[in-house]
Amino acid sequence: MPLPRVHPALAPLALVAIALLSGCGERAPATSGDRVPPASNAAPDADASALLFEGARVFDGTKDLGVVSVLVRDGRIEAIGDTLDAPDDVRRIDYDGHWLIPGLVSDHSHLGNTDGTEHGDRFYTRDNVVRDLRRFQAFGVTTVTSLGINGEAFYDIRAEVNGDPALGAYLLGAGPGVGVPGGAPPAANMGLTADLIARPTDADGARAAVREQAERGIDIVKLWVDDLGGNAPQMQPEVYRAAIEEAHARDLKVAAHIHDLAPATDLVVSGVDVIAHGVRDAPVDDALIDAMRRNGTWYIPTVQIDEANYLYAENPGLLDEEPALRAALPEALRTQFADPAWQERQRSGDNIPAAKAAVEMNLRNLRTLHEAGVRIGFGTDSGALPHRVIGFAEHRELELMTQAGFSAQQALTVATRDAAELLGLDDRGVIAAGRRADFVVLDADPLTDIRNTRRIQAVWQAGQEVGGPVTAFEID
Ligand SMILES: [Zn+2]
Repeated sequence: MPLPRVHPALAPLALVAIALLSGCGERAPATSGDRVPPASNAAPDADASALLFEGARVFDGTKDLGVVSVLVRDGRIEAIGDTLDAPDDVRRIDYDGHWLIPGLVSDHSHLGNTDGTEHGDRFYTRDNVVRDLRRFQAFGVTTVTSLGINGEAFYDIRAEVNGDPALGAYLLGAGPGVGVPGGAPPAANMGLTADLIARPTDADGARAAVREQAERGIDIVKLWVDDLGGNAPQMQPEVYRAAIEEAHARDLKVAAHIHDLAPATDLVVSGVDVIAHGVRDAPVDDALIDAMRRNGTWYIPTVQIDEANYLYAENPGLLDEEPALRAALPEALRTQFADPAWQERQRSGDNIPAAKAAVEMNLRNLRTLHEAGVRIGFGTDSGALPHRVIGFAEHRELELMTQAGFSAQQALTVATRDAAELLGLDDRGVIAAGRRADFVVLDADPLTDIRNTRRIQAVWQAGQEVGGPVTAFEID
């Protein structure tokens, strides 16, 4: 077969594509120099499982490739180029006039903790977790990290959904996580009746907790290090240092929930891998920045977490202006958001001034850390509470990132390539040969207006069409 003619910007990818064509889907060993495999090896068999996406303008996770074709086989991207030779019976999918971006990756969300306007661990069932994974997927989030507060069913659900893209977004998780006796995460506020969170009191207890969760098969360790505004005991340094040490001995990363600068800095110095929320009590300083850069620590701002306390009550018009928001809301929540009495109660809540100050500080710190070259991950804490709206929160977070000085392209790179890298996933996050075929198809250009990521026409995960126009999505 003739060589695929490849977009000039993709020259390095061309070799990878050829290597894959010769390797029956296996990752082929690197070929030397420009040597090209013999044509007989390179010609793909006629195969109905091959898909050719044509006509769309492709943002590959780092840059705009222009209009190129993408050949997919067995759930993976096989080649990208201006004109690709495809098997005769390839299924051609015409996305003329559309935009293709990688599936979004959430590094910080929660699953099975809400139902309508209610929340709590009593909702952690297989069906509710799958329901939430379908919601993420419909909104283009094809990989989701459930960062703590997972029930016993997590491990079986993960095995089930990760074997079948039609069920929902690909799932990773932290198991229950590690918190503090009588402290974070607050059992009463979070509706934790069973409270499976490990709450060790000393270093030995912390090691045992991490060991136990690691042996169950968690993907990442979650710690809560937060005194809840001075209202609760905070995890002691010897406890989190022991947890970090035990996790690293088992090749697991550690993500820490924080709110304030002081614990964030000590956690980074102590080797934590991920700061799982933005610093919201004070401007970040050189001590934190230097330590994060030195250690390559990730920072997930979750700006939307505090904004969710007032955004919908203060902007009831969003329900009409944002078709994607309407589609993201369960019926009970949509009714609540439209209720003037609820809006008034929310707007006059004691917590609102602090939430607004937290958003301002979070945006300011995000700008500082981004400009300093700190690695930024992507998450929102969606799903922990009902108004942290699964699916919509992610698109809103992208917009908030642009308010902190990110270009639309930079924000998208964080939510795709970088978010996958944070999780150690080298098989997704970019549209490139050899990667999973996880795509979001958009009706409008996300690089000229980041809000266009909400204009979803279709979602593909591992080469399967798993979602259609987002405005047609129905949860209930
Ligand atoms: Zn969280």
